Amino acid sequence: MFRPMRRAKQQLPPAEAEAILAGGTSGVLAVLGDDGYPYAVPLSYVYADGKIYFHCAKSGHKLDAVRREAKASFCVVAQDQVVPAEYTTYFRSVIAFGRVRVLTEPREVRAAIEKLARRYAPEDTAARRAELIEKELPLLCMLEFSVEHLTGKEAKELMLRRGE
Ligand SMILES: Cc1cc2nc3c(=O)[nH]c(=O)nc-3n(C[C@H](O)[C@H](O)[C@H](O)COP(=O)(O)OP(=O)(O)OC[C@H]3O[C@@H](n4cnc5c(N)ncnc54)[C@H](O)[C@@H]3O)c2cc1C
Repeated sequence: MFRPMRRAKQQLPPAEAEAILAGGTSGVLAVLGDDGYPYAVPLSYVYADGKIYFHCAKSGHKLDAVRREAKASFCVVAQDQVVPAEYTTYFRSVIAFGRVRVLTEPREVRAAIEKLARRYAPEDTAARRAELIEKELPLLCMLEFSVEHLTGKEAKELMLRRGE
């Protein structure tokens, strides 16, 4: 049911798309918001083994939206190099479609927050990480986005460079 890319030559190999997802630090989560309006909200994330993890407050627009409808998409822009002389941008981006689940099982919640903490502060000590997680855990909700379809795309100019 997922659409093929019209400009298929610009499609990145799957491993490169996954590398962009793994290397990014923020993206835009699009969910079904209120009254049929899509809600696209920027979020930090961590990617691991086909899942994207987010943390958020225990209430709010996005949480209400994913509780109502699990289907969502997530976009990460890896490169947006504007080239004024060519009236274009040399871009690379990925889009994932999938379903979002609010984690409830304490072990899952802790594992997810641990992944985020390691991604954002890899140099921190285990003790400080554990201390911060302990403090923040009661205030947080963890979301798990299971990727069902992932594509990456790059600008035509970047694609042509590959052949050089
Ligand atoms: C780079 C980046 C990384 C972020 N990382 C995280 C993260 O990891 N976890 C997290 O919880 N939040 C993060 N945020 C903040 C996030 O975008 C939301 O503001 C926040 O999650 C609250 O969302 P909500 O739907 O619960 O807000 P609500 O307050 O319930 O949203 C109500 C309304 O406020 C407006 N609104 C909400 N957020 C924004 C926004 N960012 N910009 C403009 N209008 C807004 C919208 O109109 C929305 O309908 C990040 C923001 C940026 C830019």
